[in-house]
Amino acid sequence: MSDMVVGIDLGTTNSEIAAFLNGKVEVLGPEADSMLPSCVGLSPAGALLVGREARHQQTEAVKLGDKEFTPQEISSLILRQLVEWAQRDMNQPIAKAVITVPAYFSDAQRNATREAGELAGLEVVRILNEPTAASLAYGFGDAAHHTALVYDLGGGTFDVSIVSVEGDVTEVLASHGNNQLGGDDFDNLLLGRLEREFQSQYGIDLQNGYPVARARLWWAAEEAKKKLSFEPYVRVREEALVTENGKPLHLDVELSRSEYEEMVRPLIESTLDSVSKALSDAHKSPSDIDAILLVGGSTRTPLIYRRLHELTGLEPRQDVHPDLCVALGAGVLASRLAGHGVERVLVDVSPFSFGPSYLGERGGFPYPHCYHPIIYRNTPLPVTRTESYATAHPHQTSVQIEIYQGEDDDALKNLLVGDFRVEGLRPTREPNEVLCRMSLDLDGILHVTAIEKETGKSKHISIARALREKSPSEIAAARERLKELYSSRAEEGAEIAENEFSLEDADAVSEPEDKAAADLPHALEIVKEAHDLVEQSQLLLGTLHSEDQEEAIELRERIHAAIRSNDAGALKKASAELRELLFFVEGH
Ligand code: AMP
Repeated sequence: MSDMVVGIDLGTTNSEIAAFLNGKVEVLGPEADSMLPSCVGLSPAGALLVGREARHQQTEAVKLGDKEFTPQEISSLILRQLVEWAQRDMNQPIAKAVITVPAYFSDAQRNATREAGELAGLEVVRILNEPTAASLAYGFGDAAHHTALVYDLGGGTFDVSIVSVEGDVTEVLASHGNNQLGGDDFDNLLLGRLEREFQSQYGIDLQNGYPVARARLWWAAEEAKKKLSFEPYVRVREEALVTENGKPLHLDVELSRSEYEEMVRPLIESTLDSVSKALSDAHKSPSDIDAILLVGGSTRTPLIYRRLHELTGLEPRQDVHPDLCVALGAGVLASRLAGHGVERVLVDVSPFSFGPSYLGERGGFPYPHCYHPIIYRNTPLPVTRTESYATAHPHQTSVQIEIYQGEDDDALKNLLVGDFRVEGLRPTREPNEVLCRMSLDLDGILHVTAIEKETGKSKHISIARALREKSPSEIAAARERLKELYSSRAEEGAEIAENEFSLEDADAVSEPEDKAAADLPHALEIVKEAHDLVEQSQLLLGTLHSEDQEEAIELRERIHAAIRSNDAGALKKASAELRELLFFVEGH
């Protein structure tokens, strides 16, 4: 009898198996990162099909042919297939398994899972809660005490759990969810959008008698959704979706991420209600949480990351593959039970964030060195992501792209890793959209491409060794740049002229709140100085006496109000007072 123990995620959409191989916990199977669709069926000739083949048959049934199967028997067929994969990869028989279940499973459901394992010829050594498995994958099963919030959004179900882990002692403190909500609902919303587009172009309602066209569109909608997690736009092109009177009718439509996000926003907001409920049931606040772990394929949707970050102030983690995280966590426990000293799953991630600087707003002021990453730190590699920006001025024909490495929303506090200029853009009156695509390889080469959206005109650079640490001299150079920014009032004219080549955050361009700032190009110099003063006052705030602190805060508010109301006189006056206050403080 083998001592090998495997970990299995027996999911509703997909199932996976993981074990200790080649010195680490890996997902096993015929491909890298193998996922087995949780489907069984019969071929036309009556042969049993499991996984993808069964899914292609679109046969998901408990009644197969003329035979009835219990859910446990169906699950055991899936388990058997997974175990065969593992035996092939490990070249030895497998008899013991850790199997995961959703945290909300009842005792009866847990027993049924155990039974399925036994039917598949396995000794089920542990039934493990899925969120606990996820926290083990992230290495939270060490001796220290950790509290994690596990947000799990798959294809058809959603749940959020607060788990407490300390060594082998694990507890699910609270769990909430909706077993009717998942990525399939996102697909359906997009499908509806595509159907309406087709109807408006051709006057044909695909819901009435066009099942094949609808099936094609449903598939296209899911593909589009997945792309929108990494790209700001996606083009859906379906040739000859319908043939009417011998004439093929095509669908060709571009969807934007922002349009898509508005569609799914209410669903995502409903998941956040569950997050708040789970936290309050566990008597925890976000500050008690060590990490938010994202599990399930649908958590690649950037709006989920953003909203969780806004709600809790924590940076959600998704460094362990969200579809495989639960299986890998089960694999960690299985490996430990088999006697291997495994701490966590090893993944290749970017240790830094990367992105371009752009002309945006900081504290209500136009600022040319705003920074927001395109590739976030802890993103698994390789990765490709694209974001959209816009030219800052009418008739602008070139942009200067500066790429930074770092986390600060002031680009100048980060490390400049490369820059290039794109010339020959179309001179447009309206902001011209420029896409910035970044790819980071496992070997640490960062590829950056700027693309004029309308024409496809592009320019590309590769930055080697993007993943190396900053050297002390580079950090000193970054500090020096910052110091220069604060002291070189005389050179501000030159700084502002350079803005001509900067990018604006494309989303911000369409926001009405930004209009006040956009209407002030003539006052940019005064505004820029005011901005620097405010920054400086923020840095010095802690060193001020309390009356001076109050005065500085009040002056900042006056500056802010003056900018909003486009009152250059009031702005100059408040800036002069703040400058005087800071001069006095610095002088001491
Ligand atoms: P799971 O059940 O965890 O395998 O999750 C499957 C769900 O994740 C399906 O609805 C997929 O369409 C969805 N999904 C997979 N990749 C992505 C992606 N890149 N962006 C958004 N959803 C995705």
